[in-house]
Amino acid sequence: MISSRFVLSALLVIALFTQAGCGDAGDGNGSPSPSAGSAGVEVDLARRLQTQGLEKNPQYWPVVTPLINEPLALLQMDQQLLQGTSATIVARRYESSLVELVRRANIARAFVYVSSDLACTSSPFGGGVAADTVIVIDGKMLDLMADVANGLAMRESGRLSLTIPQVVDLAAAQQMSFSRFCTTTNPLAFPDARLSSQEFNRSVEMFTQFLGGVFFHEFGHTWNWHSLFKLRENAFVPGGGFSSYTSAVEDNADLIAGVLSAKAGHDPALVKMSFDLMAFSYFYRRSPGSYSFNNTTSWQSQYSQTSPNYSSLAARKSLLDAGFSGWQRR
Ligand SMILES: [Zn+2]
Repeated sequence: MISSRFVLSALLVIALFTQAGCGDAGDGNGSPSPSAGSAGVEVDLARRLQTQGLEKNPQYWPVVTPLINEPLALLQMDQQLLQGTSATIVARRYESSLVELVRRANIARAFVYVSSDLACTSSPFGGGVAADTVIVIDGKMLDLMADVANGLAMRESGRLSLTIPQVVDLAAAQQMSFSRFCTTTNPLAFPDARLSSQEFNRSVEMFTQFLGGVFFHEFGHTWNWHSLFKLRENAFVPGGGFSSYTSAVEDNADLIAGVLSAKAGHDPALVKMSFDLMAFSYFYRRSPGSYSFNNTTSWQSQYSQTSPNYSSLAARKSLLDAGFSGWQRR
């Protein structure tokens, strides 16, 4: 026998899909809204994301029903994430780059925090984690990206004769050794002091675009109500946990990251590299010293799905490309 709770949950989920025009939050590749004509979901997303002062996609809204108070449940998700990470939040860490990204993508407000090391919190996710409005980014991965950006800038100016994998591996050996877990570290493999001012400016720009790949993905979760979607999905399929987004929701966030990176005027190659660095830091931390960036960029790694929550890196990059394309065709 079907309980009344199940029926109402089903109605809520159906309402979400109906509201979404076949659910762009739900399946990541949903049909475009009627106003988008035949342009495709990425063009529809790009049109919505070109709005100035981005906050939340106005297509959705939480509701209060006799069975669930969605606004309250979303607030509790934010509080849970903040409580689980607050001890590691480093005030103002990478703030100037985050402020610049908010300006470039024209985001109204973003409650974004940097943790010294997400692995040392109750939300041990690689990259970052988003609740309803709160975003926490893994500072350990950002420390690696800053070191890598310094190495790449010296490499571009011809002062460093290392391959890109060698730059990443050297930075990781410094930033992600066991002794540096749970703490922040400025670039060590390629210290700021070794860079010319021109190289430093180039490094800051590359770092900002790396950070954009991560931040815009997490912002995609908050903008497109993915916590609300998970809340309604969990009413259907209990036990998912609020931050274990399904691959479909992750795909949608990747598409949004592509659109916003294009809106910010970023280089698709750097944005895609940020996804490789994000995956690399996840695996490197589990076997420091015995994992190389060459492993991440290998054909096998790019095309295998290593987590049920995420598509393969190759698929995620094609979603970024689709986001860039959607922005150009909006
Ligand atoms: Zn995500």
